[in-house]
Amino acid sequence: MEDKEKRLLSVVVSVYNEELVLEDFLAETQAVLETIPWEYELIFVNDGSQDTSLMLLEQFVKRNSHIRLINFSRNFGHEAAMIAGIDYSRGDGVICMDADLQHPPACIPEIVQKFEEGYGVVNLVRTQNKDAGFFKNVTSTAFYKVLNLLSPVHFEENASDFLAFSRAAANVLRQAYRERVRFLRGYVQSLGFPKTTLYYEARERQAGKSKYNIGKLVKFSVNSLLCFSDMPLKLGIYSGCFMALVGLVVMIYTIYSKLAHGTPSGYATIVVLLCFMFSLLMVIVGIIGEYVAILFAEVKGRPIYIVERVEGLETDPRATPKEKSGPTSENASLDGRQEGKLPG
Ligand code: UDP
Ligand code: MG
Repeated sequence: MEDKEKRLLSVVVSVYNEELVLEDFLAETQAVLETIPWEYELIFVNDGSQDTSLMLLEQFVKRNSHIRLINFSRNFGHEAAMIAGIDYSRGDGVICMDADLQHPPACIPEIVQKFEEGYGVVNLVRTQNKDAGFFKNVTSTAFYKVLNLLSPVHFEENASDFLAFSRAAANVLRQAYRERVRFLRGYVQSLGFPKTTLYYEARERQAGKSKYNIGKLVKFSVNSLLCFSDMPLKLGIYSGCFMALVGLVVMIYTIYSKLAHGTPSGYATIVVLLCFMFSLLMVIVGIIGEYVAILFAEVKGRPIYIVERVEGLETDPRATPKEKSGPTSENASLDGRQEGKLPG
């Protein structure tokens, strides 16, 4: 009876080829979760791992009744895995964390404390990232500086994919923000709700290696900027004005040199100007192309993720006891959660 009155914490963990670290992750996280004054559910989302991660997770589900498994039909990416976990979560508070123990489970009691104090979003800001080299730290700082410059929303620098928010915020993420090109941690920061910040030291990855390479990081950063800002589109207008000014100066110079020396401005000037103008034009066309690609992805409306099967989860996420109105039927079918795909 007493247990029923306890609040529920959902911990969402995205897993992609993490066989080397899963046992340690479970041992450490479970030990912490047993100490908190809330009930808990640990939702592992297997994002199309090719190693033995799925087998391990299936064993975990059998071992512990608090553990749930969502298995994707293929790899959909880290954010898609977090979104699925959020969709299926039922807790009064939700925490998303990585499986590699870079996000210390020891922070969980403090986060729960913040939820109890009534905070809707707990920003988890890393003070130091031991695993990231100098290059990753510098580019990460530069990324947030540019994002804050371009976007009307202010983002916490050094925020990570260690996310914590209340049921109310989770419901917003389930019903809206269903974009194909997205920036989940940015959305969480822009939701509003009473917000607080906790600092943590990102540990080294316990085993295995990072799944993000430079190419993936660049794509992620560009998409995140484009999701939050239409400033790059306006670049065309600003650079057009700038070029008109340059043209005016060159025209004045040409007339002046014709009048003063009797020789028109040289061939080189024309070539330089043409190169400059065309490269500018191409950059702007490229930026427009990026936005068109995002529009195209949204218009096609393909699934954010496709669930192959779930384990340890008996109910359809659209009919959780805590919440009457789940995601819209449109979203539900887009996410591959059509009838017949879920048990129960
Ligand atoms: N991950 C995932 N799908 C992917 C790539 C990564 O679910 O396509 C998971 C991965 O298993 C880990 C988390 O996302 O739990 C963060 O990935 P990683 O540690 O490789 O990123 P980094 O910490 O190096 O930025
Ligand atoms: Mg990591």
